[in-house]
Amino acid sequence: MAEGSRRERWITFLLLPALVLSVLVLTGITFRSGFQLERLRERSVVEATLALVSEKVDRLDKRIVEQDAVLVQLMVPEERDVSSAEWLKIAARQTPTVRATLIVDLSAKDQPVISFASRSAAGPEDERFRRLLIRSILPELKLEPPRGELRHLHRSFGDQSYLVSYWQRDADGRRYLVVAWHDVARIVHELFPSLAERGDRQQSRVNVVDEEGRIVFGPPLSRGGLTVGRAFDSTLYKWTVNVSLSASEELAEAAARRRVLEMSLVGLSAAVTLGGLVVILLALARERKLAHLKSDFIANVSHELKTPLSLVRMFGELLQSGRVDTEAKRQQYLQIIVSESERLGALIENVLDFAKVERGHAGYEFSRRQVGEVLARAVDACHLRADREGKRLVLDVAPDLPPANLDERAIEIAVINLIDNALKYAPDGEQVTITARERGGFIEVRVIDQGPGIAPEDRRRIFERFVRGKSAAGRQVRGSGIGLALVKHIAEAHGGSITVESPGLSGSEFVLSFRSAGPPRARPSAARVEEP
Ligand code: ADP
Repeated sequence: MAEGSRRERWITFLLLPALVLSVLVLTGITFRSGFQLERLRERSVVEATLALVSEKVDRLDKRIVEQDAVLVQLMVPEERDVSSAEWLKIAARQTPTVRATLIVDLSAKDQPVISFASRSAAGPEDERFRRLLIRSILPELKLEPPRGELRHLHRSFGDQSYLVSYWQRDADGRRYLVVAWHDVARIVHELFPSLAERGDRQQSRVNVVDEEGRIVFGPPLSRGGLTVGRAFDSTLYKWTVNVSLSASEELAEAAARRRVLEMSLVGLSAAVTLGGLVVILLALARERKLAHLKSDFIANVSHELKTPLSLVRMFGELLQSGRVDTEAKRQQYLQIIVSESERLGALIENVLDFAKVERGHAGYEFSRRQVGEVLARAVDACHLRADREGKRLVLDVAPDLPPANLDERAIEIAVINLIDNALKYAPDGEQVTITARERGGFIEVRVIDQGPGIAPEDRRRIFERFVRGKSAAGRQVRGSGIGLALVKHIAEAHGGSITVESPGLSGSEFVLSFRSAGPPRARPSAARVEEP
C-alpha cells in the first residue's frame, strides 16, 4: 500500500510533468524541423529561379551585344557612307533592333553628327533623336579611355526609354564616336517574348519592369519570396527581369497545405497524449478512492464480525459459569447466542458472495419458482431480529403474482439484505413492509421502511461497492457497504434492477425488480402479516 502510494506520487510528480514536457518538446521539434525543411525547399526554389532569371538576362544582353559587335566591325568612320550603306543592307537580318547609326566627330569643337543612317524613312523622330543626342545624351556618355570599349546608355527622356550602344574610334588623327540607337519598343516586342518562351525546362512566368516599377512586358507577378528579379547587366540596365516559377506557387500551396496537416497531426497527437494523461490521472484518483473504501470496508467488516462474536462469547461464558438462575434467563441468553450467530453467518455469507461476484465467479441456478414463497422465507429469516427490535414485518404479495425464473437463494439474500437495512437504518420505525406486484412483465418487490430516507445525492452511489451513505455515517450504524452492491448484482443477473425511492420526507422504498415467467399462478396466495 505504502509502496503503491509512493509509486503513484512518483508518477504524479515526476512522470506526468516529464510526459507533458516531452510532448511539448516533441511538438516544438516537429514544428521547427518542418519550418527548416520548408525554408530549405524555398531556398532551393529561389536558387533555381535565380539561375533561370540570370540565364534569361544574359541571353538578352548577349543578343543586343551581338548586334553591336556586327556594327563595331562594320562602321568605319573614315568610310562612313560606304559603312552606312553596307549596314542598311544587312540591318534587318543582323541588327534587327537597331534603328539608326550615327557617327559624331569628337575632335571637332561643336562635335557634329557627321553621319546618320536610319532604317526608317527620314522623319521627325530621327531629327528629334539627333537633337536629343547632341543636347542630352552626349553629355551623359562615358568617353574616358579605354576608347574602343563598347558601352551602353539606358535612360528615359520624357516618357520614352532610350538605349544606345556606343564606342570610340581613332582614325587619321581624329576621334570619332559611333552610336547605335536601339529601338526599345522593338526590343520589347521582338526580343522579350523569347524571355518567356525559350530555354525553360520548368514552367515559369516572366515580366520586365522599368525603374519606376511599371510593367514593360509580361503579366503582373505576385511579389512573394519566390519571385526573383535581376537587372540587365550592361544593356537595359535600368530594367529588371522578374521570374516566378509556376512550380514555386504550387510549392507554396503544397507547403501551406502540409503545414496545416502537420499542425493538425501534431495537435491531435498532443491532444491524444494529454487526454491519455487525464485518463491516467482519473484512473489513479479512482484507484486511490477505491483503496480508501477498501480499507474502510476491512475495518467495518472486522468490527461487524467482532461485535456478535463477543456477544456470543459473553453469553456463552455466562451460561457455562452456571450463574444464570432462572430458566427464562437461560432461554433469553441462548436466544441471543442463536440470533447473533445467525447474524454472523449472514454477514460471512454476504462477504463470501460478494467476493465471488468480485472475482466474477458468481454462478446462479435459475428455476421456475413462486416469488411469494421465496419472499416468505426471507421474511422468516429476519423474523427473530424484528421481534427483538419490536418491529412488524408486513409481507403483502399480490394474489395473482406470476412465478419467476430465479435463483432462490440469491433472491432470498437480496431481500434479506434489504430488510436488514430497513431494520438497521429505521430504528424508530414500527413497521417494514415488503410488497410484491407484477408490472409490465416484471415482478417488483418493494421493501418500505419508516426510517430517515436516503439523501438525493446518495441515491445512485449507495449501490456502488464499499460506499456507505450519509444515513450510515451520521448515525454511526454498523455496516460494510457491500450489501446493496450485492443486491444490484443479483438483480442484474436476473435481468432486472434495484432502485430506491424516498417518496416523502422520511422512509425509503427499495424496489427490486426481475423478469416474471408466464401467467399468474392458479391458486392465489394470501397476503401475510408478521406480528412482533
Ligand atoms: P451497509 O448497510 O453495510 O453500509 P449497504 O450496501 O447495505 O451497506 O448500504 C449502503 C448505504 O445505503 C448504507 O451505508 C446507508 O447509508 C444506505 N442505506 C441502505 N439502506 C437504507 C435504508 N433502508 N434507509 C436509509 N439508508 C439506507
